[in-house]
Amino acid sequence: MAIDANQQPAAADAGQQPTADTGAKKHVPTDYKRDLKPVWCTGCGDFGVLQSIYRALAELDILPEDVGIISGIGCSSRLPGYVNTYGFNSLHGRALPIAQGLKLARPEITVLAVGGDGDGISIGMGHFPHAARRNVNMTYIMMDNFIYGLTKGQVSPTTPKGDTTVSTPFTSIDSPLDPVKLALAFNVSFIARAFAGDLKHMTDMVKSAIEHKGFSFVHALSPCPTFRGMDEFKRIRAAVNYVEPSAEELASKAAAFAREEEFVGKINLGILYRAARSTYEEETQLVRERSLKSRGRAPQMQELLGEFMP
Ligand code: SF4
Ligand code: MG
Repeated sequence: MAIDANQQPAAADAGQQPTADTGAKKHVPTDYKRDLKPVWCTGCGDFGVLQSIYRALAELDILPEDVGIISGIGCSSRLPGYVNTYGFNSLHGRALPIAQGLKLARPEITVLAVGGDGDGISIGMGHFPHAARRNVNMTYIMMDNFIYGLTKGQVSPTTPKGDTTVSTPFTSIDSPLDPVKLALAFNVSFIARAFAGDLKHMTDMVKSAIEHKGFSFVHALSPCPTFRGMDEFKRIRAAVNYVEPSAEELASKAAAFAREEEFVGKINLGILYRAARSTYEEETQLVRERSLKSRGRAPQMQELLGEFMP
C-alpha cells in the first residue's frame, strides 16, 4: 500500500498504541503477510525478523492499516514489500528521517523503520543520533548481518576485525562498531537485542519496542549465510547470552555499557536499557501551546507566509 499523505494528522499526543479493543476479530500473523514472495536467499536471517514483525503486530492486535514501515536500501530494506501494511522502500540510509516525518504527520499510527547495518550506521549514521535525541515515538529495527549483502559481500561497519570479505581479501583491519553501544551513547530511550534464530524472543523484543513510548531500537542479529557462511547461525547461537536486568539496572546506561563489556565473546540478548523521557510529539505540542499563547489566537496561513515573504 502507498502512504496517503493527504489524510489529516490526529491528536499530537496519540501514541504508538495497539488498536483499541472494539470486539472485532483478533489478528493473526498471516493478516500481515503479503502475497509477494521474498527474494531473500534460502536461510537468510531476514525471514526470522519478518516473521517476528508479523507475530508482534498480531499479538499487539494492531490493524494493518494503522502501521507504516519505512526502510532504506539493502537486502533487509526489502522488508516493507512483504508486509500487508503501509510501507515505503526509500533511499539508502534515509529510513529514519522519513519515518520520523510520517510519525509526526500521523501520530496515531504505529511506525517502524527497518534496514541493515550498512544502511543504518554507515551512510545513514548521521540520522541515528538525531532520531534518538528527538525521541519520536517509533521503533527502529536494525537487521545486522555484519556485511553488505545486496552489493555482494563487502566489509560493513559491523564486520568483525580479521574477517575476510570481497573488499578485504587479506582480512578487515577496521574495528567493528557495536550498534547497541552507539545507541546508548546517543541516548536512545529503549534498546534491545535479539537474534533471528530465536523467533519467540525476537517477537517479544519487537513487541516491547513497539509498546515503549519514545524512540525504541532493536539490534536484530540477522545472519547472511550467503556471504558469511552457512555456520553463521551456529556461531551466533553459541555466543548468545540472555539477560534480564532488574528495573534499576535497566535504567542505568553505565550498567548497560558494563554488561556489554563484561562478557568477552558473548552477545547479550534482551532488553538492555529503558528510560522514560518525554517524546518529540509531546514537546511539539508544548511549543504549539506556547505559540498560541503568545499570539492569543491561531495564526492564519497568509499571516505565516507573510513573515517569510514580507
Ligand atoms: Fe540474506 Fe545475505 Fe542473501 Fe542478502 S545476500 S538475502 S542478507 S543471505
Ligand atoms: Mg548488512
